[in-house]
Amino acid sequence: MLERYHSILKKERFAVHWLARSIDAGVGDLEGASADELREANARGVATLRRMLGRPAGAEEAVAGASLLDVKLELARRVLAECAFCERRCGADRASGEKGYCGVGAESRYCSDFLHMGEEPELVPSHTIFFSGCTFRCAYCQNWDIAMHPSAGYPAEPAMLSAVLLEGIGQDLCRQAARLRRLRHVQPRGQRLQPFGQ
Ligand code: SF4
Repeated sequence: MLERYHSILKKERFAVHWLARSIDAGVGDLEGASADELREANARGVATLRRMLGRPAGAEEAVAGASLLDVKLELARRVLAECAFCERRCGADRASGEKGYCGVGAESRYCSDFLHMGEEPELVPSHTIFFSGCTFRCAYCQNWDIAMHPSAGYPAEPAMLSAVLLEGIGQDLCRQAARLRRLRHVQPRGQRLQPFGQ
């Protein structure tokens, strides 16, 4: 099960998001496309992507027009207007700043990040980025100070998040290479980060 995961770590294969940016979605006007057109483009792109999964890492480049990744981003933007990102499906219009059950509106908030050493051996260390707010209300929460306070932290702007991810990739933390990137506890809004590598 972890074969593909380890092959990505060894740079033998590309991660899914990297492949998705190299697939032409065949959509000329993303914002003008209907939801059905986007869903169809997504289904076509995903079928292509599945055929690429077993390939060794090659020279896939980002396409000039709308990619499968762009289609997914546009779909995510539309979901944000009637949020169903988690199983609460509370329908908040986060795009307009309304806050749902998780307490997160249009803007995700970065709280902290570090190399997490407490996961399963295959995933340690994992570079974990914590966002404020949460979709659960667990009585035993060990991160209640950020999970229950969605206004904690700082606006998670794409440039800042990219820098945080780069820092993890740069192995500056504890002088160890992170084997995984994790974003938790809430689903951030759909946003494209600056390119930072595979
Ligand atoms: S992510 Fe937040 S706003 Fe969206 S459905 Fe879940 S609780 Fe509601």
